[in-house]
Amino acid sequence: MQGKVLEAIRNDVVARVNRLFEKTAQSQEPRLRLSQLGLCPRMTVLSIQTGITADLTEAAGILAAGHLYEQFIAEAFEGEEVIPQYEVVLAGVTGHIDFYFPQRLFFIECKTIAAAKVSDGFLPVDHHVVQVHAYLSALYEMTNERHYAALIYFPRENPRKFEVFTFTYDEAWHSELIIRIELLKHAIETGEVPPVPADYSPNKFPCRWFSRISRILITCPFFERCYGTASEQPQQPTPTAAQESSDEFREMDAELEDLVAYLHSLRTQKKQLEEQEKAARQEILERIKSARGRWVGREFGLLVKDEERRVLDTKALAKVVNLDEYRRVSVATVVDVWKIR
Ligand code: SF4
Repeated sequence: MQGKVLEAIRNDVVARVNRLFEKTAQSQEPRLRLSQLGLCPRMTVLSIQTGITADLTEAAGILAAGHLYEQFIAEAFEGEEVIPQYEVVLAGVTGHIDFYFPQRLFFIECKTIAAAKVSDGFLPVDHHVVQVHAYLSALYEMTNERHYAALIYFPRENPRKFEVFTFTYDEAWHSELIIRIELLKHAIETGEVPPVPADYSPNKFPCRWFSRISRILITCPFFERCYGTASEQPQQPTPTAAQESSDEFREMDAELEDLVAYLHSLRTQKKQLEEQEKAARQEILERIKSARGRWVGREFGLLVKDEERRVLDTKALAKVVNLDEYRRVSVATVVDVWKIR
């Protein structure tokens, strides 16, 4: 009897979890959303065609924060009608506003941001501005009323240092957004993938960039379709003689600095790994003492043998032969990086 009850409970749980997965799968079906209107149009169309989405949020140091601040906003506007995750539609494309205040003709869109990104000129993020205008235009189409909006960025490490940007309905934005939507819809329907935007570059966000938050080089999942493989990419021009001087200091732009930070972090990791490798090797040799041969475990093998290595004693040789006559001269490019602070 107890066995049958447990079996029934198990089947019920399985059925409920499966329904949840189905619901999630349906909601994740790739389709055009208002929040994508400010992103690369080529990436948006390719994402919808392939079902592969580029996650620009965490990598750019930004997270959707609507749910996190639900309680906070509810308290700040206590007594007022607030609708979280309010669905809006513009030219057949849907979006979800974080907090809609219908009586005030107003809404709030929240994002969290990593402190590293809160620098002059970074906020508001361009594609968030497009997203907010898309919601304002959608509300205008739905209600025939001009709405206002606040875009709030909460630094993850210290939410008290939040920043607020305000917007109002703008007809010029409305017309531009309708054109963007129609172009994207046409591309999706016909399968004609838009070209790489003229001002994009293979070493710039959102194609490829170094994330100071995740400390990794992030590449758009469609990078190779746009720029080809590494060997197909154009080589950097050879520097002129004037550029070759390593004594003078030049100002480093943000993209170059991101790459330098990436190389620095790789070299630091490499150094740590080399030190760990040396210590592990030493520990193995101490454990087996002077024994040599092969060891086989369940998953790994070990071979330790002594090999004779012969190297030329160049110091001794230099006493009898002029070695300079045998030296080949080549130019090696030294790339040294360091952390200033
Ligand atoms: S690599 Fe750049 S141009 Fe190509 S789809 Fe990605 S973001 Fe767009």
